[in-house]
Amino acid sequence: MVRGEIYPSVAFTEPNVAGSDPTLIQTRAERDGDMWVINGHKWFVTGADQAAYTAVFCRTEPKDAPRHRSQTMIIVPAGTPGVEIVRRITTMGDTSGAHCEVRLTDVRVGVEHTLGERGGAFTIAQARLGPGRLFHAMRWLGQAERAFELMVARANSRFTHGSLLADKGEIRRYIAESAAEIQAARLLTFDAARALAEGDGRVQVALVKFWGARVLHDVIDRAIQVHGALGVTDDLPLERMYRHARYARIYDGPDEVHRDAVARQLLKDPSAAPWVDNDSREASPAQ
Ligand SMILES: Cc1cc2nc3c(=O)[nH]c(=O)nc-3n(C[C@H](O)[C@H](O)[C@H](O)COP(=O)(O)OP(=O)(O)OC[C@H]3O[C@@H](n4cnc5c(N)ncnc54)[C@H](O)[C@@H]3O)c2cc1C
Repeated sequence: MVRGEIYPSVAFTEPNVAGSDPTLIQTRAERDGDMWVINGHKWFVTGADQAAYTAVFCRTEPKDAPRHRSQTMIIVPAGTPGVEIVRRITTMGDTSGAHCEVRLTDVRVGVEHTLGERGGAFTIAQARLGPGRLFHAMRWLGQAERAFELMVARANSRFTHGSLLADKGEIRRYIAESAAEIQAARLLTFDAARALAEGDGRVQVALVKFWGARVLHDVIDRAIQVHGALGVTDDLPLERMYRHARYARIYDGPDEVHRDAVARQLLKDPSAAPWVDNDSREASPAQ
């Protein structure tokens, strides 16, 4: 990556508070004339060491501000004095970029670096996260399908205990269950894309975020199992895909948070279920 390309990074997660609840963010930005002065500690900032800038979530509003209006997103260009890349965090093998721990000490940027409105960080994040999660789901489908192809090819070629793996009931169950799960994830992905395009896909995106990540994980896991020892070697892409799949259940919100979002919304309004058609939704007395 060439510095200066528009390659962004985003910093909201902090080591000292739960990243799954961004209302807890402690990094502060204070106004000093026409400048913001930022102090805080972030981690898991993917690509911060290569990015042209980092969009930093900062607490800017008074204590009594509504929880979802308390943070502002501020653009901090790479190389701004006071920004320290403490380390590239070592994780389970490679992912798509380095995850950096970043300390911000009296970092000064002009108020024109405010992204969107003051207090509007959550609004901006929500607008980005829906399509971002859908994009993950699309990539996961491709990976799950690749793992499925490898699993089928191996089942059709490996002979043990008197028959091909393809003839054994347990292995046939892996294949049938994987096929059902991948197809369900595909349909959830299409539905989330449709709902987002129509304006509100919160339930659909949350569904595919936790379901798609689980399908990815489980299909790769079965494909590794069918390959035996070969499955965990780097002769095949499966071990790398498996590590990535483990991350997918955490980044952009852990599974539990998305399941909770779905349950909360459907307990409040059962007609928000994706299978309820729009006409009956409009007619529903629960609205
Ligand atoms: C590969 C990868 C890339 C990432 N990239 C970025 C990035 O670019 N920028 C950035 O800012 N962050 C990034 N993150 C951080 C990520 O967003 C956070 O890890 C995530 O939001 C969870 O926060 P946490 O790690 O602090 O876990 P915590 O919030 O401490 O949660 C820990 C666990 O608690 C449980 N939990 C949490 N909430 C609930 C709940 N409501 N109900 C039940 N159980 C719950 C879950 O099991 C969860 O895994 C990345 C993470 C990974 C793994």
